[in-house]
Amino acid sequence: MSLQERTGTILDIKRYAIHDGPGIRTTVFLKGCPLSCEWCHNPESQRARPEILYYEERCTLCGACVSACKQGALDIVDDRLQLDQSLCIGCGDCVPVCPNGARELTGRQMNVEQVVSEIVKDTLFYEESGGGVTFSGGEPLMQADFVRAVAARCVELDIHTALDTSGFAPEAELMKVADVIDLFLYDIKTLDDAAHIAYTGVSNRSILRNLRSIDEMGKRIWIRYPLVPGVNDVERSLMDLIALVTSLKSVERVNVLPYHRAGAGKYARLGREYNFSRTEEPSGEEAASYIAERIDLPVRIGG
Ligand code: SF4
Ligand code: SF4
Repeated sequence: MSLQERTGTILDIKRYAIHDGPGIRTTVFLKGCPLSCEWCHNPESQRARPEILYYEERCTLCGACVSACKQGALDIVDDRLQLDQSLCIGCGDCVPVCPNGARELTGRQMNVEQVVSEIVKDTLFYEESGGGVTFSGGEPLMQADFVRAVAARCVELDIHTALDTSGFAPEAELMKVADVIDLFLYDIKTLDDAAHIAYTGVSNRSILRNLRSIDEMGKRIWIRYPLVPGVNDVERSLMDLIALVTSLKSVERVNVLPYHRAGAGKYARLGREYNFSRTEEPSGEEAASYIAERIDLPVRIGG
């Protein structure tokens, strides 16, 4: 297979993004994430395979999707349509047969040239605004070979590249993309490893190791701090973040991303529980001011 024929699982491609790095950008969302952050507002990005969003309010229980599913993953039980996730392969056969648009497939295979051809549509905007392309997710490093192939084409075309990452990946995967990424948007959730494991399902050790590696390489880094009440909004957490940032040499700014509930409804559409429905949505101003008073870098809310 040639590099251009390599395929990736894409959740979405959003044009005219203004919160995923400098300027006007195209954000390529890759599907699949090794973390399972409980507050995630893109839960449909977490599983690596394509999957179905189900709009129960539109469903008339006609049974067409049940008949169309060759895996036997669907059934109507007690007047409710039920999906057995362990049987679903994300083929999408149940989507077009639904007369009410109650089923939507998230995630599709695209090859390198298909993604690049979407990205180049806005080259003019990138040039005028200092923008470019951002690879996001999910966790784009789960598809590092694919990201590398697309990003390398963008570098050839003189398009600025950014990677929005949790940093959770084997170092070898990170290094596959490091030379074709201009800017890292690097998420730090908490420096407390026990809390990190409890809320995201994984340790932060490799995340911090990888961060130091790209810092040593002199790569441009923006730290992104999702501010989540009850998880990382206390003074101790902010002090830990400040200590980390001041120990690095390549960080250019800190972005505080206040928790919001915008993705709550998607959990039900995926047949999953959402544990943060009662969590307040902070403005982020207090935390951003606290950090800004203690580091000599720009601190922004959002983006
Ligand atoms: S996506 Fe495919 S396997 Fe999954 S429920 Fe629909 S038809 Fe069945
Ligand atoms: S085909 Fe659509 S309306 Fe019919 S049971 Fe399936 S989801 Fe419901």
